Amino acid sequence: MTAEPTMQQLDEAGRALRETLDRLAEPFGPEAIGKKPIVVCQACEHADGICAAHVERPCDTCGNTLTEAHEHLDFVGHAHVRQRFNEVDPNWNWRPLARTGSGLPVFDDYRGLWIELTIGGKTMLGYGNATSRRGGGDAVKECIGNALRNAGQSFGVALTMWMREPLRVVEPVKPRPADAHLTDEQLAKRLRKEITSYNHGKGKPFGQTVGGFKAWTKGEHEFREAPPGVLARYLEHLKAS
Ligand SMILES: [Zn+2]
Ligand SMILES: [Zn+2]
Repeated sequence: MTAEPTMQQLDEAGRALRETLDRLAEPFGPEAIGKKPIVVCQACEHADGICAAHVERPCDTCGNTLTEAHEHLDFVGHAHVRQRFNEVDPNWNWRPLARTGSGLPVFDDYRGLWIELTIGGKTMLGYGNATSRRGGGDAVKECIGNALRNAGQSFGVALTMWMREPLRVVEPVKPRPADAHLTDEQLAKRLRKEITSYNHGKGKPFGQTVGGFKAWTKGEHEFREAPPGVLARYLEHLKAS
């Protein structure tokens, strides 16, 4: 049988929890901070990655190959978040909020996962879903990592990083500044010239450029009629290969 805790014991527990929370909320070093790309062009999003006004290229900042029309959000990856939990309370634990009859976590209609995270004896809820296009087991792992990060924020882990203003979304699409005065047709014409002269420099005759381009688009686009976005991507592809 356990006795009611005394006032002094309650004070001590409160102090210990305060200390736990303070340690969880300590800032992270630069090695733990990643750059998450946020696409700011709605046309790119609707076009499933790249619109006619933007080009796709590898980004030195975030390491992804995607539309140039993106900004970055600082984030702490879930591996570092777990590490922080371990450092502060080796007995930290999480569990899904609901389980099926066979003991597996229950995902909601949005394929998200609610969890309970317990650190230093305190329990908070968290929610995670998979935002990347990965599926299957990877998506489940992403859900869990995401839910841990989310619940961790309730404990103050990497919280300040999320307190900034949301990124503005560009709408309507702004072409690259240097191309702002060009129509699509003019831009396409300039890109065709660039591609032709690039290939020419590599000893490829015009016929090969036309054929090579069509093959690269899997027969979907003719060199003379393709939209500038496709031409721009082809040029990137040529320069990269
Ligand atoms: Zn775009
Ligand atoms: Zn980037």
